Amino acid sequence: MHDQAIKRLTLETDLRNAIDHQEFMVYYQPIMDILNGDRLIGFEALVRWQHPTRGMVSPMDFVVIAEETGLVVALDSWVLHEACQQLVKWKTKFASSHKLKMSINLSAQDIRNPNLLKDIDRILAKTDLDGKSITLEITESMLIADINQTIDLLSQIKSRNIQASIDDFGTGYSSLNYIHRLPADYLKIDLSFVNQMQEASRNYQIVRTIIALGNQIGLAVVAEGIETSGQLQILRDLGCRFGQGYLFSKPLSVQECN
Ligand code: C2E
Ligand code: MG
Ligand code: MG
Repeated sequence: MHDQAIKRLTLETDLRNAIDHQEFMVYYQPIMDILNGDRLIGFEALVRWQHPTRGMVSPMDFVVIAEETGLVVALDSWVLHEACQQLVKWKTKFASSHKLKMSINLSAQDIRNPNLLKDIDRILAKTDLDGKSITLEITESMLIADINQTIDLLSQIKSRNIQASIDDFGTGYSSLNYIHRLPADYLKIDLSFVNQMQEASRNYQIVRTIIALGNQIGLAVVAEGIETSGQLQILRDLGCRFGQGYLFSKPLSVQECN
């Protein structure tokens, strides 16, 4: 326990310095339209921490600490700026990429941050990017904390033509009563369902139900964590429009994307 406490404290201290020391990087994972010839429609921005002595640290290991310490607000603002800037570079460099979109993850802290919208407006203005080029991902579990506040925030996001995606869908406790009231655009099926999706299995039924729900209430469905062509085929047969996963590509550094 003592060792763990020390490890956590060191990580926390290191995290505080990491933005200033430019230790974060953004990786980009392609998102595909899987019903129309596997066309690239955009990327999800995923943060990476290149720690000076530990090497690459997974967001699974530090985003929670960033959330608990409040550092996640500065981190996500940095990721948003970086990802918007990168998208503009790609749009300028490749004529075929003018329609590409960028998805960026928000945390519960961001949603409660009274300066979030101002920050987004500032970053879009600074990078000269249209709101319609970005999608903000919020996890299903964040929605429930204060549903009216979330609906209000999503409406303000929508008025900027920014799209919203409900991430990790299926792992939270959404009430069907409010899901259809949310001004969101996409449902992202959590990869834990997609991973183990043999036909007629419980996960298959869950995925089928989420896709049917999305289609019914007008939210486009994105499946994450597609690793095999068998999974891709099942998702296509069920009418899932978008997908991302190692089958197409792992998250890539800018150099690897170019
Ligand atoms: P997420 O937003 O649900 O992102 C999907 C995760 O699944 C990513 O993990 C991605 O690398 C991984 N993934 C994609 N395709 C596959 C696949 O085919 N198989 C498997 N096994 N995994 C796949 P990653 O990059 O480690 O990120 C983990 C989580 O950390 C994210 O889950 C998100 O909740 C959080 N996160 C990442 N970047 C940010 C960020 O900039 N801000 C915030 N607030 N959270 C972030
Ligand atoms: Mg996400
Ligand atoms: Mg997810």
